[in-house]
Amino acid sequence: MMDKKLLDLKKEVYFANKRLVEEDLVIFTFGNVSGIDRQQGIIAIKPSGVDYDKISWQDIVLVSLEGQVIDSSLKPSSDTKTHLKLYREFPLIGGVAHTHSRYASSFAQAKLSVKCLGTTHADYFYGEIPCTELISDKAIEQDYEEETGILIVDTFNTTKLDYMQIKACLVAGHGPFTWGSNADDAGYMSKVLEEIARQNFLTQLLNPDVEPLKKTLQNKHYFRKHGKDAYYGQDHQD
Ligand SMILES: [Zn+2]
Repeated sequence: MMDKKLLDLKKEVYFANKRLVEEDLVIFTFGNVSGIDRQQGIIAIKPSGVDYDKISWQDIVLVSLEGQVIDSSLKPSSDTKTHLKLYREFPLIGGVAHTHSRYASSFAQAKLSVKCLGTTHADYFYGEIPCTELISDKAIEQDYEEETGILIVDTFNTTKLDYMQIKACLVAGHGPFTWGSNADDAGYMSKVLEEIARQNFLTQLLNPDVEPLKKTLQNKHYFRKHGKDAYYGQDHQD
C-alpha cells in the first residue's frame, strides 16, 4: 500500500494538469505540471503524451529526484529532467508548471523578457521576468531537457535573480516555466504570467516607448503582498 502523502500528491498533480487545459493555457497534451514530496525526494508528474480523458489520477508517474521511475507503467513527461533540475537547484519550490500559452510563448519566441509595466505584474513578480539565451547546439545534442533546466538556473544565477521573488522564466524560442509552493500554485503562476504577458503586449502596442513602472510603486505592490511586512489579504487584515 502506497504512502498516503504520495497518493495525495498524485491527485493534486492530476488536477493541476487538468486545470491547465481548463484555463486555456494548453491545448491537447501540451504542457505539464509536477509536484514534489521534499521529505521523500519524490516528484509526481504527468505521463508523456496522454489524453487526460483517458487516464485517472493513479496514472500520474512518481519519479525520484535522481530520475528513477518509482511507480507507473507509463513513461513520465518528456520534460521531466527540466523539472528535476529546477527542484534540485531551487530547494524552496514545491511545484513546477510548463505551458506553451499564447502570450508568454510569444515573448519567449521573440526572445524578450516581460518588463514590469504595471501593478498587476508587481503584485506577483518583483521585477522583470527573464528570458533565457537560445539553447546551444551542443546542449540540444547532449541532454536537451536537462540543459533546458540548466539554462533557466543559469539565467537566474548570472543575473542574481531571486527565484522566490520571480517564479517564472521564459525559455527562448520555446515557452514559459513557472513554479510555486506546490503543483496547484505552479499552475496558478502560469495563468498569472499569461495574463501579465497579454497586458504587456497590449500596453506596448498602445505605447511602444512605455517606461517600466517606477520602483516605488513596484515596491509598494510587491511588498504589501510578500515578505515579513505584508498586509494584503485576510491573514493580515486588522
Ligand atoms: Zn515545451
